[in-house]
Amino acid sequence: MTGNPSVSCLDELPIRDELRGKSPYGAPQLDVPVQLNTNENPYPLPEELVARIAERVTEAARELNRYPDRDAVELRTQLARYLSRTAGHTVALEQVWAANGSNEVLQQLLQAFGGPGRTALGFEPSYSMHALISRGTGTGWLSGPRNDDFTIDTEAAVATIAEHKPDIVFICSPNNPTGTAVSQETVLELYEAAQAARPERGALVVVDEAYGEFSHHPSLLPLIEGRPTLVLSRTMSKAFGAAGLRVGYLAAAPAVVDAVQLVRLPYHLSAVTQATALAALEHTDTLLGYVEQLKAERDRLVSELRAIGCEVTASDANFVQFGRFDGAAGSHAVWEALLARGVLVRDNGVPGWLRVTAGTPEENDAFLDAVRAVTKELKEKSD
Ligand SMILES: *Cc1c(COP(=O)(O)O)cnc(C)c1O
Repeated sequence: MTGNPSVSCLDELPIRDELRGKSPYGAPQLDVPVQLNTNENPYPLPEELVARIAERVTEAARELNRYPDRDAVELRTQLARYLSRTAGHTVALEQVWAANGSNEVLQQLLQAFGGPGRTALGFEPSYSMHALISRGTGTGWLSGPRNDDFTIDTEAAVATIAEHKPDIVFICSPNNPTGTAVSQETVLELYEAAQAARPERGALVVVDEAYGEFSHHPSLLPLIEGRPTLVLSRTMSKAFGAAGLRVGYLAAAPAVVDAVQLVRLPYHLSAVTQATALAALEHTDTLLGYVEQLKAERDRLVSELRAIGCEVTASDANFVQFGRFDGAAGSHAVWEALLARGVLVRDNGVPGWLRVTAGTPEENDAFLDAVRAVTKELKEKSD
């Protein structure tokens, strides 16, 4: 007999060297009363939409013996219409691509434009999946700098790009986990620097706008015009309240859409997914109404946390980064103390800081009460 049937330890498997000793993406999924840790939308889809999904999925089910529309034409048409209507720039079907979550969109971009011998650059702390998907596709990862207030240090960023000449640059705006938006000017400077560093064919610049709908600023979508390697990535997971659906999309020049089609799996987006997403897009206005409520709650979290005495990073997303606790141990202790009070927030490993997702007004009140109690405790201990 060949092979070793008793292998149970990952390290003993012949996995790729760059995956050895690494951990998977893993926000804790704990069953606690107030869950404000994964930037989900707290509002369930409205009942009329649930009924419409059932209708559209029923129609789709009658044709499940067939493969789905491989190019998701109807869905991409509706996503293009949605962007054109809400993001300040008209885009056509040929400029939009959809996949199972924006994570799959990002993976397809890395498969097409990254890979062994190539590198991607991000400005950390930022969305950990940018580095993880890079690694998963054999793309080298470069960590770029940020200022103390978590904005991008444009001058240092341009210098990093000039020095390392990355094939791909990630700009997350609003940035997860800090909430900070990136200005149009900064994106343009980084784009120019990335093109100058690779004069032959340029470099891909991916603007991850997963939280775009929550921002105080307009979308960066108009910047794709006349910039063949600028890609805007979006998702239905946050603003559309449909994290369970798994639909993300990009807008870029039509050639970028052609490029990802070289690496996408055939029929990657199921007929059920396409039908459900189309139903959700019919209810865009209702769903964007919830976004307005969440933006108001986000702003309330910022001001109340400041009133409690916390430091808070300016937020353009549906979450707020707060601190500043005593280093990594301090923020983790507060994370645990909040959890003990039934409130789950996120420790993203940014020393001294935690992240809380804007929930319903009731959830946010419970969170704020818990923070008041925990900071009072901490103060008593240190007095
Ligand atoms: C949540 C999030 C996404 C969304 O991922 P999906 O795969 O679409 O659920 C993408 N980028 C960032 C920065 C996020 O925080």
